[in-house]
Amino acid sequence: MNFTPSRASAIENLNRFVENNLSEYSKLRNFDFGPNNRSNISCLSPYITHGIISELELIKKSLSKFSFVKNEKFIQEILWRTYWKGWLELRPNVWADYLSELKKIRIEYIDNTEYKNAIEGNTNIECFNEWVSDLKENNYLHNHARMWFASIWIFTLKLPWQLGAEFFMKHLYDGDAAANTLGWRWVAGIQTQGKNYLASEWNIKKFTNNRFNSIKLNESASPIISDKTYAASKLEFNNPQSLIEKNLLIFENNLSFEITDFSTRKFKKIFLISNKNENRTIKLSEKVLNFKYHLIEDQKKRLEEKSINFEIIDISKIKNIGESVYGLYPNVGENLDYINSNKLKIEFLYRKLDQFSWQYCNKGFFNFKNYIPKIITTFN
Ligand SMILES: Cc1cc2nc3c(=O)[nH]c(=O)nc-3n(C[C@H](O)[C@H](O)[C@H](O)COP(=O)(O)OP(=O)(O)OC[C@H]3O[C@@H](n4cnc5c(N)ncnc54)[C@H](O)[C@@H]3O)c2cc1C
Repeated sequence: MNFTPSRASAIENLNRFVENNLSEYSKLRNFDFGPNNRSNISCLSPYITHGIISELELIKKSLSKFSFVKNEKFIQEILWRTYWKGWLELRPNVWADYLSELKKIRIEYIDNTEYKNAIEGNTNIECFNEWVSDLKENNYLHNHARMWFASIWIFTLKLPWQLGAEFFMKHLYDGDAAANTLGWRWVAGIQTQGKNYLASEWNIKKFTNNRFNSIKLNESASPIISDKTYAASKLEFNNPQSLIEKNLLIFENNLSFEITDFSTRKFKKIFLISNKNENRTIKLSEKVLNFKYHLIEDQKKRLEEKSINFEIIDISKIKNIGESVYGLYPNVGENLDYINSNKLKIEFLYRKLDQFSWQYCNKGFFNFKNYIPKIITTFN
């Protein structure tokens, strides 16, 4: 598996996937054939997470090949991301609570042998150990493997989901506050309260094409209980009425300025914001930081080609820019946490797709799904 950190590679992968594999996506997407055979899924999440390629580009490309009906599953999966993001935006305390629980649990588990064995891939569950090394080596796991992994972590190894979510964030190239935190909560049974996801031996065997044998799991565990409930807040997008020529900040979730809704607007200067581990609660692996670094470098080249005035700066230097600035909204996550905790004044610009879709994220995904045709007609 090769995640070359560039927009050109993202587009090449998208085109190849749509031409050769999209037709079989709904039939084959649940199979995890291993890291050397990933053609049944797009493997585009590391790029989409960073805004290198957009959800709408994927949807448009897929619809240029097949009808909506034939593409429905693929489009639904793409919009899961939008849904998770919107769900978390409506309940940002889920993220804040997750991080504060994580800080406490880390201390409790600092010398815990089961935890150490799990993150070293030293358990007596062969498939789990293999996913640990895949994750560290390729910085990606198939969706089904993420579900099995999280389920084994929580219900068989009996480790706190918060530490598992941290382990994923540390190593995934597509690590994303919404998809990851809510994915783990969903497996644990606290996202859809009382409904957990239990990995089973037959399911793993079938969908890994019998790559693993004799998998002894706890297949009847009860969901994790949480007494916290989160009511959806009201979203307010305080978009500026009209844009004037000011500086613009771009964070790691929008690293293709030329495909954003603001690409035709003129800004004084663009600041590409790099965020290393000093200002993150969850420390990322060197490989993940390096991947982000190269994505920023790739954006830099594309801005240079267009003769756009820009500078790469560390997040800690935003305060030195001085005057009021615009920023492409970084979503709930580590960058927004930094901005809020340092009381930085930034006028956020929101993506149109998010603004439109997040109004439908107050309930479950099955409700959101009803609005997918409306979202597609609005943006296609
Ligand atoms: C415990 C757990 C943790 C996860 N953590 C992350 C994460 O940190 N970052 C992340 O991007 N995804 C996460 N996911 C969602 C999903 O596993 C990945 O988005 C998907 O595996 C990416 O592979 P792909 O690009 O080949 O997907 P494809 O099957 O080709 O799907 C196309 C696109 O649809 C979106 N998508 C597909 N499935 C999901 C899903 N279940 N939730 C949200 N979006 C989806 C992704 O943007 C993906 O690139 C997590 C899922 C689980 C169960």
